[in-house]
Amino acid sequence: MKKFLLSIFFAQILFFGIASAAYETLPIIYKPIEWTENRERLIKEYALEHYGFSATSIIPRAVVVHWTAIDSFEATYNYFYNEEFTSGIDAGTLNVASHFIVDKDGTIYRLTPENALNRHAIGYNWCAIGIENVGGVDGKEDLTLEQLEANINLIRYLCEGYPTIEYVFGHYQQVEARASGLYIENVPDYFAGKTDPGPKFMKALRDNLEGDGLKFF
Ligand SMILES: [Zn+2]
Repeated sequence: MKKFLLSIFFAQILFFGIASAAYETLPIIYKPIEWTENRERLIKEYALEHYGFSATSIIPRAVVVHWTAIDSFEATYNYFYNEEFTSGIDAGTLNVASHFIVDKDGTIYRLTPENALNRHAIGYNWCAIGIENVGGVDGKEDLTLEQLEANINLIRYLCEGYPTIEYVFGHYQQVEARASGLYIENVPDYFAGKTDPGPKFMKALRDNLEGDGLKFF
């Protein structure tokens, strides 16, 4: 039933559109993750290995939308906080982090500078801003109407600040998005299949933002 209601909400949004927000006053809570010289060194190493150049910042060309597959903001934030993985297959390398996390109630948190090079989408980190949405545990398409509205406002806000942004795509669209020409990956077979943030959420984003001149897949 909840799913059905949500699809009605999405349908209403598609029909009426989200009202324009005052972007200069878009509420964003800055909650920075650990940022040290060591992190900058790790970012440079990552960029050099995967993209062939050393950099810690980006000129944004795309926004990649994700879900966390973790059920709370706090747990996601803690996961992103440390600059290095301390265990698991990626131990010792630059940790995963997105620029933004949007909580289920639509609260927007910014974790790093908007133009930082963060590791969230293989092949696109050199030019993509990442937005994580809390939800999607077990692949369930449970992102909320509040998150949809927050993502629309946040993407519009980012496009105002960075007119270089042309593309918006879901992480699961990472292969189709190679048609943008933005994909770079120098490490052979470095790839992970993704399902986030689900086609329903991306369709709703596309239907609301395509009129802004952004390209989708
Ligand atoms: Zn993702």
